[in-house]
Parts: sequence; structure tokens; C-alpha cells
Amino acid sequence: MSVAGDRQPVDMIVGGRYVVTMDADKHVIEHGAVAVKDGVIVAVGPEAEIDAAYDAPERISDENRILMPGLINGHTHSAMVLFRGMADDLPLMTWLQKYIFPMEGRYVDPEFIRIGSTLACWEMIQGGTTSFVDMYFYPGVIAKVVEKCGLRAVITAPMIDYPSPGFKGWDDSFKAGVAFVKEWQGKDSRITPGLAPHAPYTVSKEHLAEVAKVAHELHAPVSIHIAEDKAELETVGDKYHETSIEELADVGLLNEQVIAAHVVWPSDSDMKKVAGTRFAAIHNPTSNMKTGAGFSPVPKLLKAGVTVGLATDGAASNNDLNMWDEIHLAALIHKGVAEDPTVMPAATALNLATRMGAKAAGLEGVTGALQVGLRADMIQVSTESLRMQPLYDVISQLVYVANQQDVVTTIVDGKVLMKDRKVLTIDEAKLRADVAAISAKIKADLKKTRTE
Ligand SMILES: [Zn+2]
Repeated sequence: MSVAGDRQPVDMIVGGRYVVTMDADKHVIEHGAVAVKDGVIVAVGPEAEIDAAYDAPERISDENRILMPGLINGHTHSAMVLFRGMADDLPLMTWLQKYIFPMEGRYVDPEFIRIGSTLACWEMIQGGTTSFVDMYFYPGVIAKVVEKCGLRAVITAPMIDYPSPGFKGWDDSFKAGVAFVKEWQGKDSRITPGLAPHAPYTVSKEHLAEVAKVAHELHAPVSIHIAEDKAELETVGDKYHETSIEELADVGLLNEQVIAAHVVWPSDSDMKKVAGTRFAAIHNPTSNMKTGAGFSPVPKLLKAGVTVGLATDGAASNNDLNMWDEIHLAALIHKGVAEDPTVMPAATALNLATRMGAKAAGLEGVTGALQVGLRADMIQVSTESLRMQPLYDVISQLVYVANQQDVVTTIVDGKVLMKDRKVLTIDEAKLRADVAAISAKIKADLKKTRTE
């Protein structure tokens, strides 16, 4: 037992009744703690040992808390939270053409993005998400919001063959995307800029080849929607006589870091093709069910050796950014689809949102686990509610019982973003007023749209 003077100074010690490390062995430490210095995890172990070895001015620990890595949302369109619940339960094309595209055309500008992304970040911080992969307009504005609110993000610039907010078509959206990556690379260690060609049915093959070339030159990640529904496979099949994943292989994108949202309909040979590459399938269970896209064969993808992450998608097709719902659904729906309760154990579902989720987002070695050398991105989940009692198996409780209101502390890069459920980096009153003002305009507009 060392005396106080022998203890190494650190910035913070965070502990809990259980520390769910999500390290390679997924081991859980009872009465554990983590020591943090300069935003990095410097020790993980039993709380008594950490307290004996380290001295910190800040200590956040409680017998009624579980400490675990922050969640990673692998695919979202953050500012679309401002369209949450605007139009539900419609056929995909009606939803897009009557509501989403016209509303985006009328409302999406830098101010809309600033307010929408701030609202999204507030919701993610409250729900224990510490990293996210975003794909939406005005990525430079999103990056500034992320810088300020303290989250970690892979922010990818949208590129599409058609007119979109701020762009006439491919050429200007592609140029702006490349400029965004160049501007933000190396600027803020929490922000990774990337490229986002929308999907194989909205971006031509030759344009995808341009993306592959520049992603390779810039070492930039690429996010894209892939094999989302059967209609996409038909479109790509008719045009190029191949699957969306074969198209990615053809243009050279499978040599790059590809963060592919959905992957609901991969063929067996697609799975073989992407296994062992830097391609990651991002599973969006809520969104896929809401749009009637189907169920991604996640257990099969994992068995084939494909990296899989988990995500909410944009709030317009979810309708929130609650990763706990996705963990819960990922653990359940595959059992139902396969008629086999062993295909998706709770720990596997949690892994998709943490350790493997980090790999899927290109953040392996940065975040995703409580491990010495990784950045200190972590959350505390309270077990105080009677709903969280009794507690026999901590992983099972997190996957099947916990929800976003149980998250009490959110820490990113060693900085506390939420303490006792109060978000410290966002002015809530101002955000509420901003959201009210913008949604009042949309509401009036919606009344007209619905009667048209
Ligand atoms: Zn999406």
C-alpha cells in the first residue's frame, strides 16, 4: 500500500461497481476504475489498486454505476433530427419525393445544420454515444458543432449526381467534399473528415471511381449507403450487371476504408469479397424495419469475417438517435429471423456498438474499449432505478434492460460532457428556442404539404 506522496498524478479517476471493458477478452472488473491523463486511459483495474497507485483531483465513482466504453453510432445524418416525425409510415418514394427532398430544398442551410447538429449532439451525449459517423450537408458546419460540444466524429461530405442543398450536381459536390477533407485533416484529433458518395443508385460508377482515387490519395474514409433494399440491387444490376459490392470492388473502393450503411442484401460472394478488407457493414435495425427494407444477415456477415458496426441512421427514419434501442433490437431480431436464440449473444450485440463499432468507423486503436492507450471515451450507466434490479449479469442488463435515461455520465477524450444527466457543453435553453423557431416554420409548411 503506497502513501499519497507515491501516487502518480492523473487528471481523473472514474469507477463503478462493474467496469465493462469490452477489451479483447471482454472482461468485466467488479469494483473497478480507470485512470485518465491528458485524455488517454493510463490504467484500468480494481478500484483499490487504481486509488493506491494514482492521485486525481477529479473522481467520479459510485456503487450504483456501471462504467463502460461510450457507444459508437456508425451511420447518421445528424441534422435530420429537425425532420423527426415529419412524415412516417409512407412508401419510400412518396416519403422522399413529397416530404424529405422538398423540405431539404427549402430549409437546409448552414443555420439549419448548426441547430440540427447541435440537437443531435445533445441527444447523443445524453444517450451515451461518444462517437458518430455523419453524412449530411454543410459538413464544415457540423465539424464546428462537434468541436464545440466535445464529441468524436467521422464527418463525411455528401456527394451526389443530382442537385442537392448547396450544389448543382456531382462536380461541385465532389470538389467541395475533397476541399472539406483537406481543410479538416489533422485540424482536430476528435474529427476525422471523409467522403460520402450517397449510394450506387445516386452516384454513377465512374464517379465512384473518382472517389476511390481521391480517398486513396488522402487516406480518407468513405461512407456510403450499400445494398439497402431490393430496388437498389435491381437498379445496379440492370445498369452494370453486378451487385453494389461488386461495383465497389471494380472501382477500387474495397482497398479503402468503407463505412457502408445497411448492407441488408449482400450475396454470399459479396460477403466473401469484403471479409478481411477495410469494408465495414453498418447495421441499422430500426431504420431498416421502418422503411421496410428487410433484415441484414448480421450473424452471417460476422461468421464470414466481415466487420459490423451499429447505427440509428438519420432521425427522419428512426425517429431518434438512441443507440440502446439498436443494441436491443440487434440482439433480438436475428434470433427471431433465424428461429435460433444462440445466433446473437448479448455480448456480440454490445460489441457492435463499442469495440467492433470503433473498427467499423475506422477508429480502431482510438476508442471502443476501456484499455490502456486508448482515448478516454466512456460512460457511466446507473443501476439505481428499480427497473435495473436485480442485476445478475451486467452485459445482459446493459443489452436487454438499460436505456438512454440510465446514462448519467458521458466523457470524451477525458473531458466530462455530461454529469448527472446535465449536458455541460451545450446551452439547452438556447437550443430549445432555436429548435422551436425552426420547427414552427416547418410545421406551417407541413400543413400545406399534407393537404396538397
Ligand atoms: Zn442513411
